[in-house]
Order: sequence, then structure tokens, then C-alpha cells
Amino acid sequence: MTTATTASTATAPNVPADATGPSHLTGPADLADLDEGIRDNPAAHRVLTGDRPTGPLHLGHYFGSLRNRVHLQRLGVEMFLVIPDYQVITDRDVADRLAEHTENLVVDYLATGIDADRATIFTHSSVPALNQLLLPFLSLVSVAELHRNPTVKDEIAHSSQAAVNGLMLTYPVHQAADILFCKADLVPVGKDQLPHLEVARTVARRFHERYPHLDGTPVFPRPRALLSSAPLLLGTDGGKMSKSRGNSVPLAADEDTTARLLKGAKTDADRRITYDPVGRPEVANLLLLAGLCQDRAPEELAEEIGDGGAAALKRTVTEAVNEHLRPIRARRAELAADRGHIRQVLRTGSEHANAIADATLTEVRAVMGSL
Ligand code: ATP
Ligand code: MG
Repeated sequence: MTTATTASTATAPNVPADATGPSHLTGPADLADLDEGIRDNPAAHRVLTGDRPTGPLHLGHYFGSLRNRVHLQRLGVEMFLVIPDYQVITDRDVADRLAEHTENLVVDYLATGIDADRATIFTHSSVPALNQLLLPFLSLVSVAELHRNPTVKDEIAHSSQAAVNGLMLTYPVHQAADILFCKADLVPVGKDQLPHLEVARTVARRFHERYPHLDGTPVFPRPRALLSSAPLLLGTDGGKMSKSRGNSVPLAADEDTTARLLKGAKTDADRRITYDPVGRPEVANLLLLAGLCQDRAPEELAEEIGDGGAAALKRTVTEAVNEHLRPIRARRAELAADRGHIRQVLRTGSEHANAIADATLTEVRAVMGSL
């Protein structure tokens, strides 16, 4: 039996309810500060994050969020990973190959280092209480606020649907329920998620203002986004690397495919390679990628490539990515062969998530005065 199933539902971490710190943490300095606090008392924290089962995970996920998750888990923080399967139909009519994508996400999590015995990995649809939390949460957010959300606007711009559906607008509130049900205080995400995290923080604060707990303790902590040093990795077309935009380098791709995809990445006409994230975002992105793989500064790599041009840059990045991912890809292949194990991980995770969600819902009903 996993630790996840044996963990008590009554052991939600005692995190400061109204964080006095910044709403999100950025950069290695902040992560280092946080590290120290976590090392002292990992049990005081809980992480929730997740990925929609819309396609294979890519380098943006890995460097933007997955590595931080693994790091936090290794520090001893309890980890919840939601696979929001219902939310796939937010920006498309049909959830294509849902079971396959879901299982592949689990394979990627485990291959990159998430320990299934200590993490709770579950699908949104297997935890009905999440949808009950959504109702009071929706009442705490105005329609105008939902319309203003910049990530929602961006997702609408990239949606493949003829008409935007209601889920699109309420997406950040769904996500607030996914985060708050387990009282997570740390959410390792990419930069695109910051507006959504702000909604989760607002919901937690307003819930407390509207339904104060008898003993004064808020039911929900105010979660903080944890950004990595690659909070917005660009895809091969120069836009945000995304599963659904045909511009990603999947973690599971083979080495030749990786080389082909990176060879097609957008760069610019300047032959001399320099690290200038503002003036030359695409070149800077490739340098950052190689730097992350080799644990080196992008400026140093730029210096080394010098006048070699985009072709030399792409060769460097391809080698760095393929080498870094080689052990992960080998482990991935082994894990992918045992679908029974992957499904069992999801079943165990769902059992634990349901127990936690039911306990939280009972608490919510009590403070709201329900029967
Ligand atoms: P989709 O196209 O279906 O929206 P996606 O690639 O945007 O897929 P999500 O499932 O929406 O992936 O995001 C999962 C997590 O990965 C979020 O925390 C998100 O911020 C992070 N993430 C996604 N893309 C990137 C990226 N390019 N750089 C850094 N983080 C990213
Ligand atoms: Mg997305």
C-alpha cells in the first residue's frame, strides 16, 4: 500500500492562511529561500499541480514545472498531481484519446522522477466532490473578473471551437477547486498560470471573509505559484510551447524527431549568437534550453557558439536535449510497457484524493451552515 493511501485526511498542513509574502515566487533566489523553510518543515507544505491530458508532455512542462515538482517531493513535501480530464472539453468539442493521454502523463511523471508511492496522482473526473466545491467558489468571483483574466483571453484566441463555451470562462475557478480541495499552498506552474493562481488566492480569501470559521482559522490557505527558471519556454514557432499548438518538443520523442523539430525552430537572421531574451527571444530560448540541460549559463553557451549561426546553435541544443533526456526516455519506455501499474497508480491516487475532498467538503458545508 502506498503512503498516499495511508495518509490521514485530517492532516492538512498548517500553513499560514494569509501569506504575507509575494503572491508568487520567481527565480532561483526565491526558490533557495523557500528550500530552507521547506527543509526545516516539509510537512507544513502541500503541493498540487497538474497537466491537461491533451497530448504528450513537452520540454516546457519539464523545465517549467516537472523538475520543481520532483525537487519538492524529494525535500519531503506531500505531492498531489491532478489530471484535469473534464477540462479538456474547455477548448474543444471532444476529448480525443483521453485514456491514452492520461496514462501517458502518468508515465511521464514517473519517468521524470515523481515517486508514485508518495504522490497522489488522480483524474479530475474521479473525484466528484471537486465539482461541489465549484458552486460556492463560483459565487465568490464576478463575471467581470472572469472576463478580464488574460490567460482565458489567450486560450480563447487559440481555441479550436467556433463558439467559446461556459467552461472556458469558469476554468480558473475549476482550477481553484482543484488546488484548494487538498489545501495546497505551493503550486509549481508556468507563467501562463499566474492569473489563475490569483483567482485561487482570491477565492480562498473571500471564502474566509464570507464564511469565517468559528475558531478563526480559514478553511483554505492562499496558495502560491512556484515558477522555475524557465517559466515560459517557447515552442518551435516562437509562441508558448503548448501541447495543442503543434509547436512542442515532446519528452517522449526519439532523438531523430527531436533533432528534426529543433532544426525547424524559428530563429533570426543575425549570424552572431548572443543571449538577449528581449531583443532575440527565439535564440535566447534555445540557449536557455541548452543551458538548462547542461546546467550552464546561456550567456556562456552564446559566447562559445559565437559566429556559428543558427545551425551551430541548433546542433548544440539538440545534443544537450537528447543527452539530458536519454535516461528519462529509457525509463519512460520501461514504464510505458506496464499499463497495469499505471492504472493502479491512478486508482490509488483517486481513492486518496476522494477521501481528502470529502473531508474538505464536510468542512465547507459546516462553515456554510448546510445540513
Ligand atoms: P494545452 O495546449 O492543452 O493547454 P499546455 O502545453 O499549455 O497544453 P497545460 O496542461 O495547459 O499544458 O499546462 C500544464 C502546466 O505546464 C502548467 O503549469 C503550465 O503553466 C505549464 N506549462 C505549459 N506550457 C509551458 C511552457 N511552454 N513553459 C513553461 N511552463 C509551461
Ligand atoms: Mg495550457
